[in-house]
Amino acid sequence: MAVALALGLGACKGPQVPDGPLVLTGKTMGTTYHIKVVAPDMPDEAADYLRSKIDEILVRINKQMSTYDPESELSRFNRHEADKAFPVSLATADVVAAAVRLSKSTGGAFDPTVGPLVDLWGFGPEGRRTQPPSDAEIKAALARIGAEHIRVSPSPPTLLKKVPGIRLDLGAIAKGYGVDVVAGFLRKEGFKDFMVEIGGEVYAEGRSPFGRSWRIGIDLPVDRSAPGEALSGVVRLRDRGMATSGNYRNFFKADGSRYSHIIDPRTGRPVDHTLASATVVARTCTRADGAATAVMVLGPEKGIEWLNARGLRALLLVAREDGTYQEINTLGMGVRPRPATKP
Ligand code: AMP
Ligand code: MG
Repeated sequence: MAVALALGLGACKGPQVPDGPLVLTGKTMGTTYHIKVVAPDMPDEAADYLRSKIDEILVRINKQMSTYDPESELSRFNRHEADKAFPVSLATADVVAAAVRLSKSTGGAFDPTVGPLVDLWGFGPEGRRTQPPSDAEIKAALARIGAEHIRVSPSPPTLLKKVPGIRLDLGAIAKGYGVDVVAGFLRKEGFKDFMVEIGGEVYAEGRSPFGRSWRIGIDLPVDRSAPGEALSGVVRLRDRGMATSGNYRNFFKADGSRYSHIIDPRTGRPVDHTLASATVVARTCTRADGAATAVMVLGPEKGIEWLNARGLRALLLVAREDGTYQEINTLGMGVRPRPATKP
């Protein structure tokens, strides 16, 4: 999770901010969003217009891609029969296509059809478990998984599954997509300086009210910590998306083992390595979001190889035995030490 550092940081000592940004907050995709737009003297009506348009956009994306809404396009596709094209919006087709491409490029480490395993391990809507599932249950779920069984056609946009029981879960990429769509809307409305964040996935454009690149905090992967509670460092972000994936908020423990909500579709089991979190910077937040989850599955060594081959900047936090973290920055990620004061 990444957090936009509060404007108040150093406000008494640092540069004076003559006119704070417009701040919009709300709930979407089972989490919260925070948006800041630098727009001096914006009339209240304009702010209301932006707020209602942004809420409209987010409601629409949920209607397209949420697996929590049984009537969303994706949920209806998931119930749809095999070998028969299902019409969807271009947006849904685009995001599914991006997820399927990412699955190919990671050799199946990232997989938007991982849903049956996520549910089996107790991280889906059916609720928690206290013990891992049996090998037979894992094997049965694995038979219903594989992005290669999904076909996406762009015009008219349709989805098709080649195998019955295959379903799609875009939870690892949809927040990033939502961020990009809101950013695109603000750009279209003529704004040059803004920051959009949904559930910790961010896109920052132009400058912050201080006239410099936006400062985004990266959380320390402390078990069950709240976003922004403890920061590992701060990144300056400009015209880029950034997303973090980690195993420190959503997991269960049984018999001394820890089971993460990030599942390796190649084994059918939660990832089991020392990588505690991966933060990736990319041109779009969709790409950053997908890549961060992919790297969490690939693990530190393969993850770094994959990132370097694609020229992606990232910060990997690898857990040490003593409870501290080794920080690995790829391609000059430029993470600064955490600020002395909490945001
Ligand atoms: P994120 O927070 O973006 O890393 O997304 C985590 C969510 O992605 C999980 O809660 C699952 O719904 C889903 N997920 C888990 N494992 C995978 C995987 N190997 N590939 C794609 N999505 C996954
Ligand atoms: Mg992700």
